[in-house]
Amino acid sequence: MEKYIFITGGVVSSLGKGISGASIGKLLQLHGFKVTMIKFDPYINVDPGTMNPYQHGEVFVTVDGTESDLDLGTYERFLDIYTSKANTNTAGDIYQTVINKERRGDYGGNTVQVIPHITDEIKKRFKALKNNFDVSIIEIGGTIGDIESLPFIEAARQFQLENRKEDICNIHVTLVPYVAGANELKTKPTQHSVKKLREIGIPPSMIICRTEYKLDDSLKKKISLFCDVDENCVIEALDSPCIYFIPEALHKQNVDLLILEKLNMEPIKRFDKKWFVKIKSLSEFEFNRKINIAVVGKYATLKDAYKSIDESLNIAAAELNAKADIHYIDAEDENLIKKLRDCNAILVPGGFGNRGIEGKIKSITYARKNKIPFLGICLGMQCSVIEVSRNLAKLKNANSTEFNENTEYPVIKILDEQKEIKYKGGTMRLGNYKSEVKKGTLAYNLYENTEIEERHRHRYEMNPEFIDILEKVGLLVSAYHKGVLPEIIEMKGHPFFIGVQFHPEFTSRPLKAHPIFKGFIKATLREGL
Ligand code: GLN
Repeated sequence: MEKYIFITGGVVSSLGKGISGASIGKLLQLHGFKVTMIKFDPYINVDPGTMNPYQHGEVFVTVDGTESDLDLGTYERFLDIYTSKANTNTAGDIYQTVINKERRGDYGGNTVQVIPHITDEIKKRFKALKNNFDVSIIEIGGTIGDIESLPFIEAARQFQLENRKEDICNIHVTLVPYVAGANELKTKPTQHSVKKLREIGIPPSMIICRTEYKLDDSLKKKISLFCDVDENCVIEALDSPCIYFIPEALHKQNVDLLILEKLNMEPIKRFDKKWFVKIKSLSEFEFNRKINIAVVGKYATLKDAYKSIDESLNIAAAELNAKADIHYIDAEDENLIKKLRDCNAILVPGGFGNRGIEGKIKSITYARKNKIPFLGICLGMQCSVIEVSRNLAKLKNANSTEFNENTEYPVIKILDEQKEIKYKGGTMRLGNYKSEVKKGTLAYNLYENTEIEERHRHRYEMNPEFIDILEKVGLLVSAYHKGVLPEIIEMKGHPFFIGVQFHPEFTSRPLKAHPIFKGFIKATLREGL
């Protein structure tokens, strides 16, 4: 079986094409199919690894160390799959491949053009995972009408011509805005967007309409008529209080059956509704326990910069029947400590660069002294090592060489393997690495395992030369990679103080909270581990 679902978006960006696609993928999985999702981003950056989180949100890291768009996190969480380099593509990466081939002389002197050379490379990538999955859901980033996404749409058009009709389904996600003055939902933007899509040669089989209010039958009829899709294929996608409810909302409108019919597929097994029931039971629980969690970072105004952390905290809290109110606090906020006083736990996330470091360290002092549950992730872990060095080991002005190359006490230093690296893109210590956890530690209590494997994205590490000194003042390195690289630190005598060099947030799944996050929330709820 080799089936493709193309997801395009119209009218505005941020419509949740990734969530719509992933919800459809979930439904197909519940019918027994093996499903993957592939993202195509129209920007020229080779990957988002070097992009500012203000522009792009979180950089998601896959098992194989690919730095990718945060949508891959959505795919992994919804579908409970592992993605890799083959699941993420950018215009920059595609052009780079074609240009490298041209430089090698692979095109034999021909003029290299968008059609066919770039579109051929895109089409090859549409099929990248066909041998391992029944269905590839292909999300084309950007909005119809953008100049940038044209080569992708053109490649999708050619792909239809070259493959069987019954193997391809085009789904367009649009917005049906509510105009308060007229007290009406408006279909015109959708009509225009679909018109544009059809002009390029992609007739949609289904339109998913994002809307704040219910779409009545007359509106659906209108969209059906003007956009040339069956009325039952005009789907209402109401704003949802929880993204994991969306698969069920689509199922209730027969989205899965309509797609199976279009793709000429028979369900492999009886539709399994258990997933809906479990998700509901988590989300509908009368959470009478509320906790306030502070995330002290550099991008406090931008939740997307900490997308997977946000998801991980919510997932773990829901599993423990609690509601987590997550407060993003700017590490440079003048009232930082005052704000922390209202919180039951403190998390310092990953990051790069000097800005906000001293505020993060102050928050860690506060958590350590007041025995408030603390989780430090990557840079957060490194800051906790600096905190303990300065304030308990009295190593004055101890620092990371990332922030002060000449510090007298370089308790965090660049990894040896990173010293010679000049290029910024894709060159950190990335992806999965194993570590060994010491028995009798908090880390062991959480993982209940001595061997763990987690995803990484960093250039600096805890300097092994300082381990002895720091262990004398209460810090404990509870996991190492290959016996030398510190991967987890904790504080003896503190109810929950843990720092991890890796990123546990990338592997949380709804219904499968990550042990570190679960432990963190349990400690916040003052439950024993
Ligand atoms: N800047 C730190 C490093 O490169 C931490 C990286 C991170 O938090 N992802 O090691």
